[in-house]
Amino acid sequence: MLLEAVIEFQCLDCGSDLITTSDKEEVLCVCRSCEREYSFKELTEESLLQLYSSYNSDGNEPELATCPFCLEESYLYYEKQCALCGETAAHECIRCGSEIPAEEISDDNLCSYCNYMQEKLMSE
Ligand SMILES: [Zn+2]
Ligand SMILES: [Zn+2]
Ligand SMILES: [Zn+2]
Repeated sequence: MLLEAVIEFQCLDCGSDLITTSDKEEVLCVCRSCEREYSFKELTEESLLQLYSSYNSDGNEPELATCPFCLEESYLYYEKQCALCGETAAHECIRCGSEIPAEEISDDNLCSYCNYMQEKLMSE
C-alpha cells in the first residue's frame, strides 16, 4: 500500500512524478526534475495525503487517522496498520465489541464510551 502511494506521488514543488530513490543517507527519494529531496517521513506523509485525499471527497469516512503510536497522520484505518511505524491498533472494543471509529483509534482496546466507563469505575 505504501509503495502504491509513493508511485502515485507528485513532487510538491514542481508537480513532476519523476520521483526516484536516493542513495544518500537521510534522503529516501529525490525529484529528478527539480532535485527536491524527501525524507522517509515526509514522503510517507505527503504521499498518503495525496493518495487518500481523493477518496475523502465523496463524503466517506477518512481513511487516514492519527496513529496512536507515532502520532502522525499516517494510520491507514481500512488497512488496520500505520504506514509509518507499522503498528496496528484495536478496531473493536474488547468490552462491548463495537467498532472503534477512525477518530477514536487509540493505543488501548476500548471505545470512547467504555473508556469513559472504565475511568469512572477506576475513580470510584
Ligand atoms: Zn520536483
Ligand atoms: Zn504510526
Ligand atoms: Zn466499548
